[in-house]
Amino acid sequence: MTKDLDWENLGFSYIKTDYRFISRYKDGEWDEGELTTDNQLHISEGSTALHYGQQCFEGMKAYRTEDGSINLFRPYENASRMKKSCERLLMAVYPEDKFVEAVKKVVRANEEWVPPYGSGSSLYLRPFMIGVGDNIGIKSADEYIFSIFAMPVGSYFKGGMKPSNFVVSGYDRAAPKGTGAAKVGGNYAASLLPGKEAKSRSFSDAVYLDPETHTKIEEVGAANFFGITKDDVFVTPKSPSILPSITKYSLLWLAENRLNLDTLEGDVYISDIDQFKEAGACGTAAVIAPIGGLQVEDDFHVFYSETEVGPVTKRLYNELVGIQFGDVEAPEGWIEKV
Ligand SMILES: *Cc1c(COP(=O)(O)O)cnc(C)c1O
Repeated sequence: MTKDLDWENLGFSYIKTDYRFISRYKDGEWDEGELTTDNQLHISEGSTALHYGQQCFEGMKAYRTEDGSINLFRPYENASRMKKSCERLLMAVYPEDKFVEAVKKVVRANEEWVPPYGSGSSLYLRPFMIGVGDNIGIKSADEYIFSIFAMPVGSYFKGGMKPSNFVVSGYDRAAPKGTGAAKVGGNYAASLLPGKEAKSRSFSDAVYLDPETHTKIEEVGAANFFGITKDDVFVTPKSPSILPSITKYSLLWLAENRLNLDTLEGDVYISDIDQFKEAGACGTAAVIAPIGGLQVEDDFHVFYSETEVGPVTKRLYNELVGIQFGDVEAPEGWIEKV
């Protein structure tokens, strides 16, 4: 049985599904955790998450395949990234194997909310952790809540991928040796104003340069950047203030091993963007959002086209989405069955 929703036309907005997983950390250990129907948290007003930003999160999806089974895409990568985010903010770590088990529990408990195969939609999962407990001083919390909730979301592009335009921001989303590589709310709070300014100028989002020299591309909104050079090299920036996107590293692997392109992770100077014939933003939400044009101060640079998607971008997208929905053979270890 599945719920009666307009599966093809879902957006990306909150839907209260039946069950979420919640586990509490106290006196140095995590409890067993449980599934609950309650979507409200009751926490101390002194919680470090509320005052000092001691919180982190993950984003991942469950996909219904043609045979009716459900795929998770590289969930151990999310577990390991969350561990790193927790370590950076001096939070308790939720064990990685238990993280994946809990994700499966949430998917199974909400199976009626997993969109049908062929709709392009999927079940979005949001694991998160917050520092809680009675506290006022600036220090790491003694108590934590780890929770995972889920909701069906639509494919980002309905009726096919479309390029859009972006603008290089004068703001930074993270400091050079700050928390840019951790998936923490503070980076997002810092990106809301630059994002709003970009959108008010009719761009999709802001592109952030490296916060130290402001000469190299780092992130595209809340997604990683990649470009395809005129001689077919898949290039993506490397920096300690970039959030390591699982989608990006998957595309890099596919570029090398399935499309037989050369790949390069290194500096991407904004002054060198002419070298790219295609460019895109990548992350779990959209997989790839092709970049049509990029506004750099007074110059507007068009990559492949403002209206058409480049052929390499298309092939990368189809390969990765095919793997996620079980239509294309997955590299070893990429798919975890629920
Ligand atoms: C989550 C996130 C991404 C994308 O990571 P995926 O693992 O591909 O979903 C990219 N940049 C930022 C800042 C992010 O928070």
